[in-house]
Amino acid sequence: MNPEAQDRSGASGLRYSLEVPSLEDLVDVFRIALEANFRNVAVRIVDCPDLTEPPYGMAAKGISKSTKISDVGGVRYLTPLPQLDHKYDLQTIAKESELSPPYFIMGAGCGPYQDVGCNCELMANVAVSSAGVVKNESRIAKLDKDGKCQIERLQTTNLAILGNFFLSAGEPGKVVEIRAEGRTGSENFVSILRQAVRARYQEKPVGIGGVFLVEKGSLNIHVMPDFSKAPLETEGTVDQWLKYFTQPAPMVFMSVFVSEDPGWDLRCEHTHGYGVPDAEGSSQNRGGHYHYDTTPDEVEYVGYFGCAETLYRIDRPPSSS
Ligand code: ZN
Repeated sequence: MNPEAQDRSGASGLRYSLEVPSLEDLVDVFRIALEANFRNVAVRIVDCPDLTEPPYGMAAKGISKSTKISDVGGVRYLTPLPQLDHKYDLQTIAKESELSPPYFIMGAGCGPYQDVGCNCELMANVAVSSAGVVKNESRIAKLDKDGKCQIERLQTTNLAILGNFFLSAGEPGKVVEIRAEGRTGSENFVSILRQAVRARYQEKPVGIGGVFLVEKGSLNIHVMPDFSKAPLETEGTVDQWLKYFTQPAPMVFMSVFVSEDPGWDLRCEHTHGYGVPDAEGSSQNRGGHYHYDTTPDEVEYVGYFGCAETLYRIDRPPSSS
């Protein structure tokens, strides 16, 4: 059941092979699940649009070739008290995920407190060319002095504590396009997709990465405040510590999910995003960790998704038992 888990001496991680369904099968799995949860649904295989173009603004054109997921660190380095020695670099993560340039790495994590000066949300969006030139479209979301959400561009590829990333050569290629309007079910968009893949492939872990746009409606988002000085011992105290916002579309999200955790201590679903310019050209200070949309009637999702071939578990926290 557990596909070729390998010790990789000399590196800090473990490598696992993922189940890789055909895109045709994924279309069926996604479509059936979405039709049960949205009013209007269209799912098909397309050539990936150029994701560097607005509104997506990714650092690479596509998400194809040499696809991988890296699950780095974990919540146990954040709670009950932060373990600040767990610092990472997206470029090192790519190397430990056996990718050399050119590559594209995107996803969700804790931002680099060591550079930003406080704990924050990371929206990782970085391409490195074969010549080693770094194109950094990453942002962080943090709280300002008044507790308002503030978005900043990043110059660094550093991060800390934890992260969930989808890596690829960043090439254009075939992907699954999803359009879904008018949510009728109670689950969030990403959980619907993950649970559908879980139901279809059961204990075989399938890893998916994608970029999606919420065109209309608004979203429930959290932004982490600076590190807590009081221990966050329970889910309840974590929830009180997090700052929740309702933020309006349009927003672009980067999503990474794995259908099933066969005991690799994975974070199975993680999605971060940020505001993109609306009709007035304002992207305001919107962004952070996606929970769900708050406007089921009017919400509209469009996204592009592909499968990862391999999963890397980097700096896995030691067992808490
Ligand atoms: Zn998050």
